[in-house]
Amino acid sequence: MSSKVKFTNPNKSAFYATTRQRVENYFKENAISKYANKAMWGKAIIYLTAFVGLYVLIISNIFTVEVMFGLALLLGVCSAFIGFNICHDAIHGSFSANQKVNKFFSFIFNLVGASPYMWSITHNVVHHTYTNIPGHDEDIEVAPGLVRISEEEKVNKIQRYQHFYAFGLYSLASLSWVLRKDYIKFFQKKIGEHPTLNHPKREYFNLFFYKALYYFLFIILPLLVLDITWWQFIIGFVCMHLAEGLVLGLVFQLAHVVEGTDFPTPNEEGNMEEAWADHQMRTTANFATNSKLASFLLGGLNRQIEHHLFPKVCHIHYPVISKIVKQTAQEFNLPYIESPTFFAALKSHYRMLRKFGKEAYEQQTQLMPAIGKLSHTGR
Ligand SMILES: [Zn+2]
Repeated sequence: MSSKVKFTNPNKSAFYATTRQRVENYFKENAISKYANKAMWGKAIIYLTAFVGLYVLIISNIFTVEVMFGLALLLGVCSAFIGFNICHDAIHGSFSANQKVNKFFSFIFNLVGASPYMWSITHNVVHHTYTNIPGHDEDIEVAPGLVRISEEEKVNKIQRYQHFYAFGLYSLASLSWVLRKDYIKFFQKKIGEHPTLNHPKREYFNLFFYKALYYFLFIILPLLVLDITWWQFIIGFVCMHLAEGLVLGLVFQLAHVVEGTDFPTPNEEGNMEEAWADHQMRTTANFATNSKLASFLLGGLNRQIEHHLFPKVCHIHYPVISKIVKQTAQEFNLPYIESPTFFAALKSHYRMLRKFGKEAYEQQTQLMPAIGKLSHTGR
């Protein structure tokens, strides 16, 4: 595969046209904006206050090491929620009709150590277009050689145990993001098969300047101000990121790698034969949609079906839209993949890891002697 994939279904998606019409009608008839409402603003204020509050409490140096450690873990988890609830919407342009507001909330992504510019390419463009397509969607290449989530890739010995260790690797997601991933992707020639060179000059500055700002706020300043040893700091910093990484990794995986989701490959011409929206329905899943807590914490990432179809609609509206999407999917005989709870989705993801690891390896080793015999007989 060497070129960009196109979705070439000539009929487009009647499903998408109908769903979109119905969703637009919902907003029109009820005179509701598709952007943030009061509840969404309330959420944003709560998360930002918690984030700043936790940081100030730690940096104030008034607590014992043990309490600071607990606060650091909370700050890590809170950073993930800021990403889910505020920055994700803002970078999609769905927080506000005013682009300045979106820009302001996108900027906050820098303060949790991530580059909003790189995210706008890796997530908004690549992941949202080429969802779950092996070799194109880098979100399913979690730890190449260690975690296998694709039939395309040969399974190796160590991946027999991936259903155990994958969760540990997910925890590294945030550390990798802050220290490594953005730089690598920025200088990569392409992400998946999407060419990514020719970044605007100011983005070179932004990448290094805001990473440096993050390192100052979260490494240098704490080391200068806090009455802790360097190794206590490292434990706190690493554990803060492990907590954040586990939340990020799990929420990303449960949206696309659970039983029922597909990993379609392009045809010989390098095209997808299905319409894009139909593809999204086969590759994306919801979970815990009846849980108000999940919706509050995960910023609509537990309703990824609606998000993938309507990334320009603020996540606060997804509960209502989901009724329309589900009904329309049924009418068009398309799957609507959902797990009732977070733990049901987690179990389903665990079984997928086993399927792509242990079970695939056993199948491969059973096939090997048969292939060997065939080649001995000269066939
Ligand atoms: Zn998104």
